[in-house]
Amino acid sequence: MTALHDLVAGHLHDENSLAVVPAVTEDSAPRVREGLARRRQVAVTGRCPCGATMAIPSRAQRRAARRAARRIHHVAVIHADSCPAIDPFTDEQAVG
Ligand SMILES: [Zn+2]
Repeated sequence: MTALHDLVAGHLHDENSLAVVPAVTEDSAPRVREGLARRRQVAVTGRCPCGATMAIPSRAQRRAARRAARRIHHVAVIHADSCPAIDPFTDEQAVG
């Protein structure tokens, strides 16, 4: 299986962003497509339809990372339990 990914450019909190997200393919199950679409939406806008928001590092944390020559920031998004973005591949409907 080949993993396909897209680079998605966005603008979050007055900073340009670039996220690597799984590609949405036509042959994916509906829940997989919806889950991946929501992850892409969060990467671009910082918000998911389930109400989750992306908590990005503060300006001080970003400056500290820049001083340490770290260019990649890790972020966490806490989705609602029912959100397909959590893990769309584990749902039974996503198989087949
Ligand atoms: Zn969500």
